Amino acid sequence: MVWPSSPPDDADRLSYADAKPMPFWLDRPRPEARPPATGETKADLLVVGGGLTGLWAAVRARQEMPDLDVVLIEGESIGSGASGRNGGFMSSSLVHGINNGLARFPNEVAKLEQLGLENLEAIKSSVTATGIDCDLTSPGAVETAMTGHQFDDLGEAVGELEQYGHEAELLDAEAMRSELDSPLFTGGLWQKSGECLIDPVKLCDGLARLAESLGVRIHENTLMTGFEESDAGVTVSTADGRIDASQVLLATAAFRSPVGAIRRRVVPVFDYVLMSEPLTLAQWESIGWHNRQGFSDSANQFHYYRPTADGRILWGGYDAVYNYGGRVEEDYYQRDESFAGLAHRFFAAFPQLEGLRFSHRWGGAIDTCSRFFAFYGTSRGGRVGWAVGHTGLGVGASRFAAGVGLDLLYDRESPVAGTDYLRSLPMPFPPEPLRWGAIQLTRNRIAAADRKGGRRGVWLKTLDRLGLGFDS
Ligand SMILES: Cc1cc2nc3c(=O)[nH]c(=O)nc-3n(C[C@H](O)[C@H](O)[C@H](O)COP(=O)(O)OP(=O)(O)OC[C@H]3O[C@@H](n4cnc5c(N)ncnc54)[C@H](O)[C@@H]3O)c2cc1C
Repeated sequence: MVWPSSPPDDADRLSYADAKPMPFWLDRPRPEARPPATGETKADLLVVGGGLTGLWAAVRARQEMPDLDVVLIEGESIGSGASGRNGGFMSSSLVHGINNGLARFPNEVAKLEQLGLENLEAIKSSVTATGIDCDLTSPGAVETAMTGHQFDDLGEAVGELEQYGHEAELLDAEAMRSELDSPLFTGGLWQKSGECLIDPVKLCDGLARLAESLGVRIHENTLMTGFEESDAGVTVSTADGRIDASQVLLATAAFRSPVGAIRRRVVPVFDYVLMSEPLTLAQWESIGWHNRQGFSDSANQFHYYRPTADGRILWGGYDAVYNYGGRVEEDYYQRDESFAGLAHRFFAAFPQLEGLRFSHRWGGAIDTCSRFFAFYGTSRGGRVGWAVGHTGLGVGASRFAAGVGLDLLYDRESPVAGTDYLRSLPMPFPPEPLRWGAIQLTRNRIAAADRKGGRRGVWLKTLDRLGLGFDS
């Protein structure tokens, strides 16, 4: 057991008592809301969802198929889903980490890693070429070890990363402490390539502006309530009208989908985040962190933590909560038990920062599927397609997934044509109430495995053998 077993105390709760209950990234002047779609609208391509997947799809559709008339609808506002609530770690991995890729498609990992690195480079060049200021930095990401067992695992992972073209460095206790001074982290693995940090809402807003400059019409507060085949191709109904489109791309992530194949395979898992006030120079000095990397723990239940451009620390993760029935409800975005736990473990990791306050607290819904990365499909004779299921690592992969979704809809040559990555689907979750029971049992066994230094029991080993899992 490495994290404190003691419960959160009054000081922990006080640290976030005045925090605004909203994502830090969204708490700034934003572009004026685009008007909802009303009456009858026509489009060649309708993209549903104004997160990073939908925005990249709209941008790429116009850039790569300039003859298409593209409309994007978003049920709330741009970036109001996971894309405006995440940690801003932008990774090259398309498969939720090399280990997960190796466990599923060992023969395709080399190709997928290469495509992932190219995708990340394409995001960087796009951001630079179009002047999107999203505080993008490339300091790499460090996975920390808190036990000998975790450090041994990181030792093996260095070789894997290097084998697939990454630059990585194993940090022993002393080296780790000089990167980030915590009494709890006794080693680390610093992946120096393929890992960036961004401000996700600045990226969303920049992409929305770019899409509009390319001719995409964006409608916010426009919820798709259903769709049916029609003479136009597909007619999508919304609260105030209908949209006739030749093709539709669903980029709706964890939100309830009208498509059964998605509903069976995606569950919304809520993840929680605290954002600190800006640290003073003395506070930064007290913890080191001179290289300003992104960090995460290497246990199954993990935190992620990163600095922001204005000198705060974002600290999130660990709990991964599934609520019975699998809905994304506004109420689920706040969870005091999770915030108290986050604060408690933050001060255990950084006792030097006692007294620091958190300015924002929020949650978000992760579109978890049992293989932990995006999957694709079409229905209605190939007129409706989807790219969903990023499972907590979609900030970078969203651009790639958007491209693959368009490949399927428009029958284009895809970089992943013929791969199991594209062809196969994650195993569905069972229906309720079994779904809730199975997920709670899995969460419970994951926590037990972490308490036992990572040793997986019978239930988790069985899931591993079946290629099933639960992650965030
Ligand atoms: C707390 C948290 C932390 C995370 N941290 C990271 C991280 O550090 N790095 C990383 O790579 N990934 C992270 N992720 C995951 C990442 O945010 C997503 O994978 C990524 O943003 C891609 O999002 P998306 O566009 O697919 O989904 P979303 O951003 O959720 O977009 C889906 C959009 O579709 C809209 N929508 C849904 N249904 C309808 C409908 N019927 N009609 C109209 N609109 C609809 C929603 O309103 C929403 O805006 C995190 C997620 C969460 C929640």
